[in-house]
Amino acid sequence: MLVHIKEIIMRAQRGGYAIGAFNTQDLEITLAIVQAAVAQRSPVIIQVSESAIKYASLKAITHIVQTIAKNQADGIPVALHLDHGKSFLSVSECVKAGFSSIHIDGSDLPFDENINLTKESVAYAHKRNVWAQGELGTILGKEGLIKIEKRELEIKDCFTDPALAAKFAQATKVDTFAMSIGNMHGMFVGLEQLDLARLKKIHAKVKLPLVLHGASGVEHGEIKKAIKLGVHIVNIDTEMRQAWATALRRTLQADKKEIDLRKILAPATAAVQAVVEEKMKVFGSSGKV
Ligand SMILES: [Zn+2]
Repeated sequence: MLVHIKEIIMRAQRGGYAIGAFNTQDLEITLAIVQAAVAQRSPVIIQVSESAIKYASLKAITHIVQTIAKNQADGIPVALHLDHGKSFLSVSECVKAGFSSIHIDGSDLPFDENINLTKESVAYAHKRNVWAQGELGTILGKEGLIKIEKRELEIKDCFTDPALAAKFAQATKVDTFAMSIGNMHGMFVGLEQLDLARLKKIHAKVKLPLVLHGASGVEHGEIKKAIKLGVHIVNIDTEMRQAWATALRRTLQADKKEIDLRKILAPATAAVQAVVEEKMKVFGSSGKV
């Protein structure tokens, strides 16, 4: 069933666990996520990025998620969220389409401009009963790591400053807060060390559900510690993509004559479902329905 994100996040906050926010852009991945949620009896967030919207079109992907949530997730709460909305336009379109949560990501902007963009988006969302996620700090990915290697960037400069985080949360009135504490977009096993002391400070100052982006490749023990320190949403994308691509390559390799798309895609969908189910167990959301 399709629910407002606040229902599942407020319960997760009371229960001390986190909800996975898994990315989709099509029918198969949406099915994989929902089937995992049903199998694990876990609430779930399904999120789409701007590039996923560009790929599938907003109306199509919204209807896919909403229809599957309504018809194939009986009694299982599913919330729809915009991941990394970069503009007010992105946010307003998703609010109008029926999302219950949006992420306005002004983290590339100077602090004051980030506050202004976020404030405007939050006000728009709140008027329409939609939750908003804000972000402060630079969540590193491949490009950021190259800059660090070249010493154009210091890793600590990318991390979220706890005092500024408090100021940001207060000024913008966001409902959830995404931060940079060593998490990275993509998968860099071994490189992703969470700065848990910093997370503790952020948690002490920002009394909001915290969001851990780029959690693919972060050690499960570290994620569990982060959940104890106020993280209630954990974003996963890369590990699902890897499982999907590996399974698809294997299937095509094993039978070079098969042309039934459904038979070719089924093992890849199942592989994604397995990743999602594993994460739900780690996040503690399994059996919480
Ligand atoms: Zn992210």
